Amino acid sequence: MAWLVGYPREKVNWYPRVDLSKCVKCGMCMNCGKKVYEWTENGPKVVRPYECIVGCTTCANLCLGKAITFPDINELRELYKRENIWAKVKEQLIKEGKLSSASN
Ligand code: SF4
Ligand code: SF4
Repeated sequence: MAWLVGYPREKVNWYPRVDLSKCVKCGMCMNCGKKVYEWTENGPKVVRPYECIVGCTTCANLCLGKAITFPDINELRELYKRENIWAKVKEQLIKEGKLSSASN
């Protein structure tokens, strides 16, 4: 699997932050299939941050209270560049026969 190609997920600063003062308790964020959230008496709580799919913003897009934020996407792009993750992902996809080396 090419995802992060072995780069430690815990070193990637990407997971949702919830501002409970804006949360309208609509529950849309609980649709996350990665079980990042758990529901508490105060609303949603991020309990498994590193299960969040890197780059995903679905819960923030669905949030009716605009209460969910993520770090700047450019920080993520910088990390991928700095740590050579893009190049390794490409290499892995070529190895798995999912990408031709000609498209390199
Ligand atoms: S961004 Fe995606 S994977 Fe991460 S918590 Fe939200 S819905 Fe789940
Ligand atoms: S989607 Fe947003 S407003 Fe709705 S429960 Fe989750 S954080 Fe609160």
